[in-house]
Amino acid sequence: MLMPKIIEHMKKTGEWGNFFSQACNPFSYNESVAQLHYPKTKDEALAKGFTWRDETQSKSYRGPIYNIPDQISQVDQEITKQILICEVTGKPYKIIPQELKFYQQFQLPIPRRCPDQRRIDRLEKRQPRTLFDRNCAECQNPIQTTYAPDRPEKVLCEPCYLKEVY
Ligand SMILES: [Zn+2]
Repeated sequence: MLMPKIIEHMKKTGEWGNFFSQACNPFSYNESVAQLHYPKTKDEALAKGFTWRDETQSKSYRGPIYNIPDQISQVDQEITKQILICEVTGKPYKIIPQELKFYQQFQLPIPRRCPDQRRIDRLEKRQPRTLFDRNCAECQNPIQTTYAPDRPEKVLCEPCYLKEVY
């Protein structure tokens, strides 16, 4: 039986009973959600044993520049055959036919940013993963909220909030 030998070996190397090591991870630190929630520099990530993927290839596209029309009504199926360049990162991206149909249906402009950048933009709009002590704007009872005390929003405790909305 091979299994007892493997277990014995893994106990010697310190792997036994632990989660998979970073060497088994098919993704680099900077291409996982870990980088969004716990940003690290390349050196910090490598020092912790993670891998890092440098983006060099995708930005090297030097094909024809496609100018995205401002109005969705001016966009036709041709755009799905084009390579678009992100206005922030310079990365190439595409609009797929299903996506174009969605933008046309809801009269939305074609995004000028690549999907990765759009995901970063969305996450930046979220509240921080921290709870602050504050007082309810109505009854002054102490509450905990993700809205920092210096933010201008009116934050209510649950009973005051429910009174306000019903
Ligand atoms: Zn209250």
